[in-house]
Amino acid sequence: MEYRHLGRSGVRVSVLSFGSWVTFGPQLAGNLARDCLAAAYDAGVNFFDNAEAYAGGESETIMGAAIAELGWPRHTYLISSKYYWGIEDSINTKNTLNRKYLLQAIDGSLRRMRHDFLDLIFCHRPDPSTPIEETVWALHDIIESGRALYWGTSEWSADEIVEAWEIAERHHLHKPVMEQPQYNLFIRDKVEREFASLYDTTGLGLTTWSPLASGLLSGKYIDGVPERSRATLSGYEWLREMVTDGDSNRKVRALKDIADELGVTLSQLAIAWCASNPHVSTVITGASRAEQVRENLTAVDVIKRLTPDVRERIEAIF
Ligand code: NDP
Repeated sequence: MEYRHLGRSGVRVSVLSFGSWVTFGPQLAGNLARDCLAAAYDAGVNFFDNAEAYAGGESETIMGAAIAELGWPRHTYLISSKYYWGIEDSINTKNTLNRKYLLQAIDGSLRRMRHDFLDLIFCHRPDPSTPIEETVWALHDIIESGRALYWGTSEWSADEIVEAWEIAERHHLHKPVMEQPQYNLFIRDKVEREFASLYDTTGLGLTTWSPLASGLLSGKYIDGVPERSRATLSGYEWLREMVTDGDSNRKVRALKDIADELGVTLSQLAIAWCASNPHVSTVITGASRAEQVRENLTAVDVIKRLTPDVRERIEAIF
């Protein structure tokens, strides 16, 4: 495994990490979830991503129970959660980053995850109805209280990140360290264009999501929708349309020729491509079974094989 600094911070994360969206709860629990986490940890993963809203809190409960069972020493891994959508049904706890919500939500995560503190916490989306200053102070206070170590954002605009960073700078508060944007061969704009100046100015780190575009880049949807795949899950119909798109699957089929030539799988190539961007601190992978985890994490050995020539051919397809 390779480890990279999380932006300008001193902490280092495995370049490939593991997250639980969709899978923990709807697809996996108990031993199966534990096996995925163990496979990732054994391959050198030290960052495990989660969110309050995943399966309405159940994803945090499953991960917390599995980590307790696995008995990992606390200093060997980082865990995260994210806040915005809220899981309590009340006026101040939905679609918000207000101070009251944030300071209570973290306690719910700690209880479900069975931890005294989380390593990384994220604002899961921007909240235009709460002043950014209120949110920055709330995140600062959570960190000061010892319940989290670093904070960041997810799917914020560059302007919003800079505003938060400048408020923190002005008041000597804990600054946002990392952003969690989608990044894969289909979705590239934020990472490659919008955030371009922030890597130097604010020292932004990236924990990127959906390297396989929910499985599309694994090639599993080239010939239809396989049984037990994410696209068959009820509640994810919007995703089925995206992963079965004809034009996208034609590109994936063309990418397969390059993967075959390199002797790697499509998933390994697509994940390695994300990790080959030096601004990416960690690529958060997802998997519905331990075999996928093992396959995906060997992508770390494929990064160095993305020569300028290979990259150019990939560019030509996408
Ligand atoms: P991917 O795009 O990599 O999709 C993962 C899914 O693809 C798996 O669950 C599995 O689904 C399928 N898959 C994975 N590996 C293989 C393989 N080798 N062969 C065939 N199919 C495979 O990542 P996710 O969309 O899961 O995102 C990763 C993480 O990013 C999440 O867990 C979460 O932590 C984070 N995230 C953050 C978001 C945010 O807003 N901040 C939003 C979304 C994700 P199946 O087998 O069921 O088909």
